[in-house]
Amino acid sequence: PKYVYEFSEGGKDQKDLLGGKGANLAEMTRLGLPVPPGFTVTTEACRRYLADGVVPPELRVQVTRALRALEDKVGRQLGDPKDPLLVSVRSGAKFSMPGMMETVLNIGLNDVSVRGLAAVSGDERFAWDSYRRLIAMFGRTVLGIDGESFVEAMDAMKRTRGVTQDVDLDANDLEELVEAYKKVVHQETGRSFPQQPREQLDLAMNAVFDSWNTERARLYRRRERIPHDLGTAVNVVAMVFGNLGPDSGTGVCFTRDPATGRQGGYGDYLPNAQGEDVVAGIRNTLTLADLAERDPGSASQLYAVMRRLETHYRDLCDIEFTIERGKLWMLQTRVGKRTAAAAFRIAAQLVDEQLITMDEALQRVTGDQLARLMFPQFDRSATRTRLATGLAASPGAAVGEAVFDSATAVARHAAGDSVILVRRETNPDDLEGMIAAAGVLTSRGGKTSHAAVVARGMGRTCVCGAEAIDVDAAARTARVGDIVVNEGDVIAIDGSTGEVFLGDVPVMTSPVAAYLEEGLDTALSGADEETAELVQAVHRVLTHADATRRLGVRANADTGEDAARARRLGAEGIGLCRTEHMFLGDRRALVERLILADSAAARSSALEALTPRQRGDFVELLEAMDGLPVTIRLLDPPLHEFLPDRTELSVRVAVGRERGEDTAAGETLLAAVERLHESNPMLGLRGVRLGLVVPGLFAMQVRAIAEAAADRIKAGGDPQVEIMVPLVGSVMELHLIRDETDGVLADVAEREGVTLDIPVGTMIELPRAALTAGRIAEAADFFSFGTNDLTQTAWGFSRDDVEAAFFAAYLDKGVFTVSPFETLDAIGVGRLVRIAVEEGRRARPGLKMGVCGEHGGDPESVHFFHEVGLDYVSCSPFRIPVARLEAGRAAI
Ligand code: ADP
Ligand code: MG
Ligand code: MG
Repeated sequence: PKYVYEFSEGGKDQKDLLGGKGANLAEMTRLGLPVPPGFTVTTEACRRYLADGVVPPELRVQVTRALRALEDKVGRQLGDPKDPLLVSVRSGAKFSMPGMMETVLNIGLNDVSVRGLAAVSGDERFAWDSYRRLIAMFGRTVLGIDGESFVEAMDAMKRTRGVTQDVDLDANDLEELVEAYKKVVHQETGRSFPQQPREQLDLAMNAVFDSWNTERARLYRRRERIPHDLGTAVNVVAMVFGNLGPDSGTGVCFTRDPATGRQGGYGDYLPNAQGEDVVAGIRNTLTLADLAERDPGSASQLYAVMRRLETHYRDLCDIEFTIERGKLWMLQTRVGKRTAAAAFRIAAQLVDEQLITMDEALQRVTGDQLARLMFPQFDRSATRTRLATGLAASPGAAVGEAVFDSATAVARHAAGDSVILVRRETNPDDLEGMIAAAGVLTSRGGKTSHAAVVARGMGRTCVCGAEAIDVDAAARTARVGDIVVNEGDVIAIDGSTGEVFLGDVPVMTSPVAAYLEEGLDTALSGADEETAELVQAVHRVLTHADATRRLGVRANADTGEDAARARRLGAEGIGLCRTEHMFLGDRRALVERLILADSAAARSSALEALTPRQRGDFVELLEAMDGLPVTIRLLDPPLHEFLPDRTELSVRVAVGRERGEDTAAGETLLAAVERLHESNPMLGLRGVRLGLVVPGLFAMQVRAIAEAAADRIKAGGDPQVEIMVPLVGSVMELHLIRDETDGVLADVAEREGVTLDIPVGTMIELPRAALTAGRIAEAADFFSFGTNDLTQTAWGFSRDDVEAAFFAAYLDKGVFTVSPFETLDAIGVGRLVRIAVEEGRRARPGLKMGVCGEHGGDPESVHFFHEVGLDYVSCSPFRIPVARLEAGRAAI
C-alpha cells in the first residue's frame, strides 16, 4: 500500500488517511499558500505498526523516496554537515487532540551539522539554540526522559549567567547547554544522543506512532468520544525558523475570536522563538496589532492568508505560522474550536456575510453548545471582591475551592467538593485535574494556551493569563498583592469576562435561558450588544431548526408546573407522564391499604380513595398542555417500592416484640413486604404485570384519567390524553388490559355525558416486544420506545449497578466509547428499534411512534430516531431546546 503522500498529493477531505494536520497542510499547499515542503505518513501505516509492533518494511523505502524528493526540492540534504536540511516530525490524528501527542523539531542536527548551520545562517546562537531544542524534545518524546531534567539544566544555566529569559543566553551559553543536555541523555538512557540524521528521523516517527497510546491520549479520547483504533498520521516538514533573531518569530492566530466570536483576527505572537514557545507561556506574547507595528509586511501577508482561508473553508480557521527573517510560513490550519457563544455568533455572521446558508449555519452548531449556553451565570448585581482579571478563555461561571495540582483536584472532586484548578500554566499532565475541576485558572498564557484550548474543547470554564496572580504551586498559594489564597479557599471564576473573584458569588439565569423561557423581547431588553447578537443568533438558528425538523419534540413531565415550563421551552406535548410520584407522600398510606387489602371490598375502598387524588393531578397536567397530546403511563415500578424497607421494618417489629408492644400491624406489613420481596425487582412484578395481578389497580388509574379528561371537556378545554401501558412483552398482556380499559372509558363517557377519544398504546421496552411488534401493533394505538429499559434488557445490564461496577473499565478497553444509557447503542439496541418500527408500521400503517427514554434528549440519539422514522422524541424539559435543534440538524 501507499503509505506516504507528498503535500501536493492530498487534500482536506482525507483526514481519515492523512490526519487533520496532514490533510490541511496538503490543502494549503494546493491553494498555493506558503507551506514548507513535506510529506505525510498515513494513519494506516500507524495502525499496521501498532498492530504488528514493527514498522511495515515498505514504509522505510517509501520514506526514503519521499525524503529524497524533499531534499531535491529544497536543494539540501537531511543533516548535511555543511548546509543541513532540518525537518520536524509531527503527529496529526483525524481529530485534533491539542497537546496530547508528540512533535520533534530540528531533526537532522548533530555535533557536525550544527556548525554547518551556524556557518550558512551566519548566526551561531540560532544554530546552538536549535540543537539544544532538538536534544530536549527528542530526549523527552523519543527517549522518554523526564522533561524536568532539561528544564533544570536550563534554569541552572540562566542562574549562572544571571539572566531570567532564554533569549538572554548567548551562543556560548547555548553550546554549553547542549553539552549539559547530552549528559542528561547519557545519564538517563545509558547511551549517547543519536548522531545519525536518518536514525533520528526513524526513531522520531516511531515515537509519534507510540504516542497514540499514551495514558493521557487515551484519557483524552475517552472524554471526547474518539475511537481508540484510528491511529495517527506523521508529518515530516522542512523546518522554517522563527528563532533567527528579532525579525523572526512564531505565532498562533484565529480568523475570529474563538471565545466570543468577535470579527477580526485574534492571535498571539512571539519574536525570536520556535514552536511550542507561544503556547507554553515561557514569555509574554504580543498581539497581532503589535506584530503589525513591528513588521507591517509580514502582518499584511498574514491577514491576506487569513481572509483566503476563511473564504476557502467558509468558517473560523485556527492557524500556526512562523516568520523567518520577514517571510511568512504557514505551518498548520484547521477549522478552529470555539466556545458555544462564538459558534452561534459566527454561524449567524457567516450567513449575513453570505458565505454560508441557513442550513449550513444549523449544521455549524450543536445541541451540546446550546445546552452550555443555558447554564447559569454570575449575578452582576451581587457584591463581589474581584481578585484579578485574566482572559476570558472558556465561558461559564465556576465556584470552588482553590487547588494547585491535578492530583489534589482529582481527590477533592472524588470526595464531592467543587474545585478550581489554579496553575501558572497547564500542560498535558494536568488533564485529569482539569476534568475533575469545575473551572481552570492560569496566570500565564493566552487564549491559545494549552489550558484555554483544552478547557474550551471540553466545555470547562477557564480564565487564563491572569498575570496579577502569583501562583506558587509548591507552597499551595496564589497571591495578589497582600491577598493570599490558600488551598481550600473558595474562589469564583467567570470564563465569559475573565474575572476572578474571592469567595462565593451567586449565579443567575443566562440570557439564552431567559430567551428560551421568556421570549426574545424579555431577553433583549437591557442586553449589551454582544449579548443581543448572541441571543438573536440562537433565535435565528433555532427558528430555522423548528422549520426544518420532521421530528416532534415532547417533554417528560409529571406535574402541571413542569408541563407549563416545558411548553414555554417549546414542547409540543408530553411524551411521558410517570404516575408513580402520585403514590408517594401522604398517599403512601392509601397504597399500603391497597397492598394489605385481604378482601375485594377492602381493596376497592382503598382504590376509591386514591381515584380523586389522581384525577386532580391529571386535570392540572391536561390544563397546562391543553390542545397538545399528553401521554400518561400507568403504574410501572414494583409495589414494594411504596412500602418500608425490609430490614428496617423487621428490626422495628423485633424490637417492639422484645418490649412487649402490640406489633400486629407491623407484622402484617412485614409479611406483605416479605411476600413482595424480589431478588431482581427490575425483572419482576412491575408494569403491565402489576395491572394483571392486582385487580382494579389499572382500572382505577384509567378511571381517574378519563374523569380528568371529562372535567376538562366540560370546562371548555381540549384534552388530548393518551394512555400508555408499560413493560408489555406479549400482545396477550395488552389485549387483557385493553378489555378492562375500554370498558372503563366507555363507562366514564356515558356517565359524564361526553365523547372520549383516548388512544391506548404501549411502551416498547423489552426485546420480545420489539421482536413481536407486528403482533403487538394489533392491540396498540401507538408505540413509545422506552430505551432505558430496552438498553437494560437488551444488554442484560442492571442500570443501577453496572455504571459504578465496570463501565469505566469497558470505556477504557474500548468496548464502547460512550455509555449506552447516554447515547443509544444504534447497532444493537437500535436494531431492535428498527425492527419494531418496520413491523409495527407494516401491521398498522401510520402507527404513531415516539421515544421517551433519556435518549430522547441526547444529540446523537436524536439523529438516529429521525433516521429510523419516529414521529417524536420526548425528553426532560431542560433538554427540549437541545432536541429541537438536533432534530432540525438531523433533517438537513
Ligand atoms: P501540535 O499538534 O501540538 O500543535 P505541531 O506538530 O503543530 O504540534 O508542532 C508543534 C509546534 O512546532 C507548532 O508551534 C508548530 O508550528 C511548530 N512546527 C512544527 N513543524 C515546524 C516546522 N517545520 N518549522 C517550524 N516550526 C514548526
Ligand atoms: Mg500544531
Ligand atoms: Mg421502562
